[in-house]
Amino acid sequence: MNSGGYETVIGLEVHVHLKTQTKMFCRCRNLFGAQPNTHVCPVCTGQPGVLPVANGKAIEQAARAGLALGCRINSESVFARKQYFYPDLPKNYQISQYERPIAEKGHIMLGDRKINITRAHLEEDAGKLIHAESDVSLVDYNRTGTPLLEIVSEPEIDSPQEAAEYLKELRQVLRYCGISDCDMEKGSMRCDANVSLRKKGSKELGVKTELKNMNSFKAVEKALEYEIKRQEKVLGEGGRITQETRLWNEDKGTTRSMRSKEEAHDYRYFPEPDLPRLVIEAEKIKSIRDSIPELPAARRRRYIVQTGLSEYDAGVLTQEKEISDYFDAACGMLGDKSSENIKKLANWITVELLGKLNAEGSGFREDVISPPHMAELVGYIGAGTISGKMGKDIFEIMYNKGVSPGEVIREKGLKQITDGDQISAVCREVIESSPDIVDKYMQGKDGVLGVLVGNVMKKTRGQANPAMVNAKLRELMGRRQ
Ligand code: ADP
Ligand code: MG
Ligand code: ZN
Repeated sequence: MNSGGYETVIGLEVHVHLKTQTKMFCRCRNLFGAQPNTHVCPVCTGQPGVLPVANGKAIEQAARAGLALGCRINSESVFARKQYFYPDLPKNYQISQYERPIAEKGHIMLGDRKINITRAHLEEDAGKLIHAESDVSLVDYNRTGTPLLEIVSEPEIDSPQEAAEYLKELRQVLRYCGISDCDMEKGSMRCDANVSLRKKGSKELGVKTELKNMNSFKAVEKALEYEIKRQEKVLGEGGRITQETRLWNEDKGTTRSMRSKEEAHDYRYFPEPDLPRLVIEAEKIKSIRDSIPELPAARRRRYIVQTGLSEYDAGVLTQEKEISDYFDAACGMLGDKSSENIKKLANWITVELLGKLNAEGSGFREDVISPPHMAELVGYIGAGTISGKMGKDIFEIMYNKGVSPGEVIREKGLKQITDGDQISAVCREVIESSPDIVDKYMQGKDGVLGVLVGNVMKKTRGQANPAMVNAKLRELMGRRQ
């Protein structure tokens, strides 16, 4: 983005909650939405004399995320104490990683654009403050000690739209690997957005502000747009940007200063004395690498290159791993794997199945129509056993009752009629009973052919092959062009 002679520079710091049974340094459950202060213990509330023990599963999840993002995993990393006081932090310090994080130097591809990732480090979350009334605040320590991974990008993102794209791609990768739910509304993904402007063509970075408190991708985009305009105005009037943290206000659509760098904390990081260095063996790293599924970008490429799907279809099918797995499973069961049939299968999933689930407000579920049933349905349509229209009726019944399309076809006697003599007989009947329409057709009104086709379809309860009916009617009426 570039306006008023400035270009935008954005760097994102993203925190995600890691999916684990227990917290980062104690055995309390890692649960969202429990009764406040029911999952707490002396360790996560920082009582005197307790010792933390690092959660192996969280370490594995962090390494998996790092690998999926193309990072180098440090065989040795160090936990560090970051000290500050805040009512949501009963220990008065947070265990994080500072000089030597678990993962470094990765990237995310956005089409052909490469956004580099500086580092990803492990830490623990603080509790949650709830500002109940104007003069009352409550604190819930359930979240205290939740395993967090902070993923820091290089200042290389060049517009609010690209920031949102980066977040979407990051979320998709992390979800594919089962690392986090990445739900911004529930706080399992949070994003601090750093932004500065500089004269177009300049190599030096401008003074940045850091935006907090956005709880959707849209909000990140809007907050950045607002902040870019604000900075442009300040610079345009010959002013200077103050390095500060600003809070996004969703209702007002503005940012306001929360604290400036001058008041910024001196965290006094030092290596955490209660924990040993974090060592991960090469063997372990290898086995974690092997557990990473095929990632969304690779799947999109495979769908486009190998199966000839459009970029759009490939994008919809890979939105979620479950959808993509479903498509792959059904695809493997197609008898006829022509690209035409695969395209049909993609359509039935993206338009019909996802359409119906979305309309019901439900997320993706494969139990309503199993992959083999879906492949069977597409097989019948591809082979001309049933028409697309009949397919939709059968789909409805499958969706509601969980039965196979073969069962529906047998039960309802729904096979498509492709027998020429049978179609010919019905076409004759229709022509004889509609002389007026036939006249119009003979006079050159092609549009009325549809009425005749419709009548044949009605008489055959939708079972006649429409293309054959069309051809037969034309042939029987024999109009000269
Ligand atoms: P801080 O010490 O203020 O947290 P860091 O250097 O650790 O700053 O960077 C934090 C984030 O801010 C990173 O994502 C980085 O890419 C981004 N960033 C750093 N400098 C700038 C800048 N001048 N403009 C935009 N983003 C920046
Ligand atoms: Mg920062
Ligand atoms: Zn605990």
